Amino acid sequence: MEKVHLYFETEYTEERMDALVSALLAPYGGALGLAAGRKSVLIKPNLVSKKPPESGVTTHPLMLRSLCKAFLDAGLKVTVAESHGGVYTEASAKAQLAGCGVLGALKDLDVCLYTKAESALHSAEGGVLCKSFEVIKPISEADFIVNLCKVKTHSLTVYTGALKNTFGAVPGMRKFELHARFPEKEDFAKMLVDLHLSLPVALNIADGIIGMEGNGPTAGVTRAFGFAAACGSAALCDLVCADLLGLKCADVPLLAEAARRGLCPEEASFDMTDLTAEEYEKARVRDLKLPDSSPKGAVSLLGRLQRLGGGRIIRLFRSKPKVNKTECAGCGKCAEYCPAKTIEMKNGKPHINRSACIRCFCCQELCPVGAMKIKTNRIVRL
Ligand code: SF4
Ligand code: SF4
Repeated sequence: MEKVHLYFETEYTEERMDALVSALLAPYGGALGLAAGRKSVLIKPNLVSKKPPESGVTTHPLMLRSLCKAFLDAGLKVTVAESHGGVYTEASAKAQLAGCGVLGALKDLDVCLYTKAESALHSAEGGVLCKSFEVIKPISEADFIVNLCKVKTHSLTVYTGALKNTFGAVPGMRKFELHARFPEKEDFAKMLVDLHLSLPVALNIADGIIGMEGNGPTAGVTRAFGFAAACGSAALCDLVCADLLGLKCADVPLLAEAARRGLCPEEASFDMTDLTAEEYEKARVRDLKLPDSSPKGAVSLLGRLQRLGGGRIIRLFRSKPKVNKTECAGCGKCAEYCPAKTIEMKNGKPHINRSACIRCFCCQELCPVGAMKIKTNRIVRL
């Protein structure tokens, strides 16, 4: 089984990122070895939201810079491409790159920062649920991809890392269509695995130096996890990173799906990495704060209920989005982006038709002021 290469790091400085990236690429023969004769690389960061690097929401620009430099030094053409959440246009892509600090960090490098917002149909022939996807053009044309993800908790998928990061290949509002088409978490996970496997990802790098816990991927709390990981397999990379955060495979729908397809085992252990048992234990994150949609114990409880009684029982216990009207700025973004079109703006505030809500938590993810909260069932909270 392929190893997950783990490194401890606590700070983002250019010098340290250069050394870290060099260590992360070394097992693959460096940038040149990974390229294996290919002339261009596409780097897919996580720029889900226009947040500064210190927020822990998006890929740190200095890590991205060091990765770009490594491939440029190896003589490759480098493209950085990502479709953020919400409406994806040339103007919004430019604003996103600026807001996440990427524009400034890469300004002196000969890197193509893709902003044209064009898309193409991409084949996913081996997919279980989906046989094709609309993806942003440079991703459909990439020689190979380095998937540079962030280690975070996630209100819908519990954990987000390498497998989830490639959802950013799907342009803007098309993501919401996929949420609406696959409202059940298990189907959504199948779709995400189909998408990931259809893309030419050669390496996954997980940035857990500073990540996020709680109501991720955008409204959680910054937390220093202190590690970064690299692996050719997104499933193995995610399994190990989630395990270090204290999350089990069965509690993370994407990992459960990956295990069902034989992409990873159901349990992680130190010997999947190049760390000793002692070093691996030291890397463990204690008392991770889960999203409000998955309070302590509820992830396993709901997983067990799901396995025992199917969907009907757990529907009763599921968390729901709830707006804090005092904090709400009345921008209407939640209503605009809701895939189920179940939010209506009345007197400048959102009203949710709960019976039609598919609990994708896109409204919470994209609320710019964090006013969309998650209401948890009292029994599950106990
Ligand atoms: S996105 Fe947030 S701030 Fe905007 S209307 Fe919805 S809850 Fe209010
Ligand atoms: S109200 Fe929020 S959680 Fe419910 S379907 Fe709409 S975006 Fe998803």
